[in-house]
Amino acid sequence: MTTHDRRYVIIGNGIAGTTAADTLRKNDPNCSIHLLTNEPYPLYNRVSLPRFLQGVIVEQKVMIRDFAWHEQRNITLVTETMVTDVNTDERVVVTDDDHVRLWPMEEVLFRTNCVMGLRYVSSIRPG
Ligand SMILES: Cc1cc2nc3c(=O)[nH]c(=O)nc-3n(C[C@H](O)[C@H](O)[C@H](O)COP(=O)(O)OP(=O)(O)OC[C@H]3O[C@@H](n4cnc5c(N)ncnc54)[C@H](O)[C@@H]3O)c2cc1C
Repeated sequence: MTTHDRRYVIIGNGIAGTTAADTLRKNDPNCSIHLLTNEPYPLYNRVSLPRFLQGVIVEQKVMIRDFAWHEQRNITLVTETMVTDVNTDERVVVTDDDHVRLWPMEEVLFRTNCVMGLRYVSSIRPG
């Protein structure tokens, strides 16, 4: 397998996941990168949320990335998609929204804020 075949699936598009995607792309212009998130937004600044909710700052000040940023880097951002399983034997990440989808991958990166996010992933089978 060449590096051109590499398929990465990153779970979570917070600062960790988005930075991981950016770093992968910088190091390999040809790999495929799917960045999966259950949220509807590209990366936003969590720290700014209280001031945004209080009406002190506008939404544009909270958003760090937009959809175009991902497109320009050939990073496929898949929003509103909950990861429910990771099968490292079969090398697929499973999402379950309207219907179950399988995301083939060679590498999976968990980029969710500690166990809070991972509670949705029902089983992790070591490969
Ligand atoms: C109000 C507030 C103020 C903060 N202030 C500070 C501060 O001053 N200093 C500091 O160091 N830190 C601060 N933090 C914490 C900081 O924001 C987090 O440490 C940081 O966001 C963690 O980044 P992350 O990418 O690891 O995870 P997150 O930002 O939590 O991103 C994880 C993403 O993964 C998604 N996800 C999770 N599970 C799944 C799943 N099964 N399928 C699909 N998607 C999934 C989540 O929806 C989320 O979008 C603050 C946080 C908040 C909320």
